[in-house]
Amino acid sequence: MNKELNIKPVKDWGFNFRRPLTIAGPCSAETEEQVHETAKRLSKYPVDVLRAGIWKPRTRPNSFEGVGSVGLKWLKDAGFDNNLPVAVEVANVKHVYEALRAGIDILWIGARTTVNPFAVQEICDALQGVDIPVLVKNPINPDMELWIGAFERLNRAGITKMAAIHRGFSTHEKTKYRNIPRWNIPIELKRRYPDLNVICDPSHICGNRELLREVAQTALDIGFDGIHLESHINPDKALSDAKQQVTPEVFGEIIESLVVRENIDQHLEMEDQLDNLRAQIDSMDKYLLELLSQRMDIVREIGYYKLANNLAIVQPSRWNEIIETRRDMCDRKNLTDKFVAELFHAIHKESIHHQTNVMKQAEQDMEKASSDGEKK
Ligand code: PEP
Ligand code: MN
Repeated sequence: MNKELNIKPVKDWGFNFRRPLTIAGPCSAETEEQVHETAKRLSKYPVDVLRAGIWKPRTRPNSFEGVGSVGLKWLKDAGFDNNLPVAVEVANVKHVYEALRAGIDILWIGARTTVNPFAVQEICDALQGVDIPVLVKNPINPDMELWIGAFERLNRAGITKMAAIHRGFSTHEKTKYRNIPRWNIPIELKRRYPDLNVICDPSHICGNRELLREVAQTALDIGFDGIHLESHINPDKALSDAKQQVTPEVFGEIIESLVVRENIDQHLEMEDQLDNLRAQIDSMDKYLLELLSQRMDIVREIGYYKLANNLAIVQPSRWNEIIETRRDMCDRKNLTDKFVAELFHAIHKESIHHQTNVMKQAEQDMEKASSDGEKK
């Protein structure tokens, strides 16, 4: 199901944001002074939105769970003094009411909330009829439908100023990231909903300071619409997410070092130059699909042979041989082993599908023939 969403992109939210949009601020508001000093120091750099967590979803109890409602005023005042709209995370009805009462400009739904449709619906019900922008972080598990579901629920409550925050996904795999990016998921989200701006959150993806710039640049290379970075005046002493926060000055260095890639809509002359290369890709893709379709014709022929000789569809020795030989089959300097393996897994899956259809069809034909025979 690909239900249409009614989305106002960030450029139409009435804030005069830059492209890419930048969101910065501490993981948590800790003291009034900290929030004010962060905002003041950040405002020397390209920042569009000041963020701070007021209520913190923590993995274990006894960790710092946020200062609570008192922090809303610190944040709002710091935003006012530095001419910045402010954003907080909301996870339940109480958070929504308090944030709205405090005049918070933008809300965000956190990764641990997006996974829970009950919680998202509760937030949406509380927002019914309120025209406030809402950012939705991806759910902690790599489930794009849950992410989309949150936008659909917001839409049904009348919210149209919506954008996505890509903060990576929980994983048991050993990786250099705290949350693995799985770039294909936000890319697919953008493909399906071109008006939905996607903002990358390298802080929660990386979990450390070293990788922030690299991840932020990758996001801009791909064509994301914004960057979200946590910034603390004394990162090592931060009460939450200390390892991934950077000072406002380091934030400035990272942001100013990034290369922004243009959107082709604004450069029609480039579109012409790309047309030629894209035409070559189009004809290669056509050729690839024709070849694959011919390959499947042969696969079906093999299926009939297996059927006639009562052989099982999957012959592990042949499958192993394919996997091993394809890796070295051609001089493919620019194809990774992982890609070749994934490609042949996909081809093999499709082949099995064709051969099971051959067998199913034969069974149905036999059943039909015997029931026709009985009738006669
Ligand atoms: C945060 O932005 O501080 C936060 C809690 O993020 P996430 O929901 O992505 O874990
Ligand atoms: Mn955080």
